[in-house]
Amino acid sequence: MIDFRCACGQALFFENTACLRCGSRVGYDPVARRMLPLSVLDGRPPQSASGPLCRNGAEHGVCNWIVGEHDQQYCLSCRLNQTIPNLCDGSRLHWWKQLEQAKRRLIYGLLNLRLPVASKHESQHGLAFRFIEDRRSNPEVAEEHVYTGYAEGVITINVAEADEVRRELERRHAGELYRTLLGHFRHESGHYFFHLLIDSAERTRRFRELFGDERQDYADALRRYHSRPRTQGDDFISAYAESHPLEDWAEVWAHYLHMTDTLETAGHYGLPQGSAHFDRFDDLLLKWSDLTVTLNSLNRSMGLEDAYPFVLSAATLRKLRFVHELIDPS
Ligand SMILES: [Zn+2]
Ligand SMILES: [Zn+2]
Ligand SMILES: [Zn+2]
Repeated sequence: MIDFRCACGQALFFENTACLRCGSRVGYDPVARRMLPLSVLDGRPPQSASGPLCRNGAEHGVCNWIVGEHDQQYCLSCRLNQTIPNLCDGSRLHWWKQLEQAKRRLIYGLLNLRLPVASKHESQHGLAFRFIEDRRSNPEVAEEHVYTGYAEGVITINVAEADEVRRELERRHAGELYRTLLGHFRHESGHYFFHLLIDSAERTRRFRELFGDERQDYADALRRYHSRPRTQGDDFISAYAESHPLEDWAEVWAHYLHMTDTLETAGHYGLPQGSAHFDRFDDLLLKWSDLTVTLNSLNRSMGLEDAYPFVLSAATLRKLRFVHELIDPS
């Protein structure tokens, strides 16, 4: 992530809607990859009733992206939405905001790696998001059980994942080291890009060599995973990765996105362990192992858990290298 600055020199975060020093209203332009003061865009021919800001920002305060010249009302990120939470009370609005923030970070990272991001209106292989609740968090809704997951270009996130308390309970119940909204988005995007990137016999062969045969019964594999005690073999980045080759892939994919985004952030903030270029995988790895030690030490100084509580085994590194070669970010 870039170290954004306001025209007055004040640091801006990716999520900011205004500068804390000079008060300028700002928005992020995903094409120019810059935070811009909305005042300079106000004179532009109006693309939408909400002006340069995405309609979800203007009407609900959940988005700070700028609408492109040819867009209608919604920004590149919000155009991907198929279902948003029922905004029946303030907590749903808060959860939705958290979901949108994580989604925009995912999309920033994908665009940074020059991966295609298009809605289903723009491409038959486009991507869509559904944020849905089930009865465990809202007795009013019809759905008994909504699984966070992926099917046919649609990423579904259970809205309750945006509730920090529920998410932490779920993390403990699942015996996971790390559970965040951003992690969910990155993981699920891996399922989408599997279909786009594993597109030849050769790539399929290499995939199966590293991850196993993805044709094995998915429901069976998941049932087996949930019925056995949590262990994690050296060949896997997480316990969940062991459940099925496609889950292993999605976990490794998510880690690749964690790495590249965090390295870029560190690079822009002047840390020697950072890097805004991802052309050489070996360099990237060296910097990453250095950076995670720094990151975890900083967190420990603040009395927090490790930011990156994972060990990368030789098998995991081979899988990460495969993802790197497929994306080819050079
Ligand atoms: Zn300012
Ligand atoms: Zn938006
Ligand atoms: Zn998955």
